Amino acid sequence: MYATNYHRPSSIQDAVRMKSADDSKYLAGGMTLIATMKQRLAAPSDLVDLRHIPSLKGISVDGTSIRIGAATTHYDVASSTELKAACPAICDLAHGIGDPHVRHMGTIGGSVANNDPAADYPAALLALDAVIVTDAREIKAGDFFTGLFETALQDAEMIVAITFDAPAKAAYVKFRNPASRYAMTGVFVARRDNGDVRVAVTGAGGNGVFRHAGMEAALALNWSPDALAGISVDPSDLMSDIHASAEYRANLVKVMAKRAVAAA
Ligand SMILES: Cc1cc2nc3c(=O)[nH]c(=O)nc-3n(C[C@H](O)[C@H](O)[C@H](O)COP(=O)(O)OP(=O)(O)OC[C@H]3O[C@@H](n4cnc5c(N)ncnc54)[C@H](O)[C@@H]3O)c2cc1C
Repeated sequence: MYATNYHRPSSIQDAVRMKSADDSKYLAGGMTLIATMKQRLAAPSDLVDLRHIPSLKGISVDGTSIRIGAATTHYDVASSTELKAACPAICDLAHGIGDPHVRHMGTIGGSVANNDPAADYPAALLALDAVIVTDAREIKAGDFFTGLFETALQDAEMIVAITFDAPAKAAYVKFRNPASRYAMTGVFVARRDNGDVRVAVTGAGGNGVFRHAGMEAALALNWSPDALAGISVDPSDLMSDIHASAEYRANLVKVMAKRAVAAA
């Protein structure tokens, strides 16, 4: 046993103040953090529970402008009818995370802060050119995900919400690990009315989530799965582990991207 102080703030300001303890951590769904503590890989002195702060929860859709509170669960994202009407791709993505227990407990803020290289949301946020709103500032997704389990967040900084503009077309397709359901490779594609295209890949990059410029250029000229036929994905920067080699993942990137464009 080791001692951990539990805090239950009801406002963002109180939570940030409580987090100032030396080795404290924010607790959201606990789907990653509690498991890490059980394995003795983390032993925070204090846990600051974010689940009882009303302003961190909920989804608002105003035309194409979308805001998702950091403590909104994957289940709530997956089942929001308003969000489904504006950007169904992100609801489908949330519906494919883990299992019902994980979806009812896990939160978008926790997933984004954790930045697991196989997590689904980082691909969506990068492809949607989302903004990560913290208690202190706004960070573009392109500047936020800085490496494996690394983000631009400062020590006591808290994610408050995720915002983005709904694209004209988007879809996410992943090749899931049959045991964990994390992405062995997942690709989120998004196309704007002005023709801009973004393709973001999770589960494959040696340094975490990344965009594929070649696919984006090809799809901007021709929004069709066939446009990707001639694109090759370089395996040299991709992950290789017991689940799949870099070469296998390179092939998956292309296959998932084609399927995502077809689905969008
Ligand atoms: C069996 C299983 C299967 C899973 N499958 C998938 C999957 O298919 N796809 C996928 O993407 N994920 C998957 N996950 C991960 C899941 O999405 C988790 O919900 C997510 O990783 C962490 O979210 P959480 O809310 O539980 O955060 P927690 O575990 O509570 O926290 C995770 C980290 O984020 C920090 N944190 C939390 N909230 C904030 C905040 N607002 N601001 C700053 N820091 C914060 C915490 O301090 C901690 O360091 C799976 C997890 C499990 C256990």
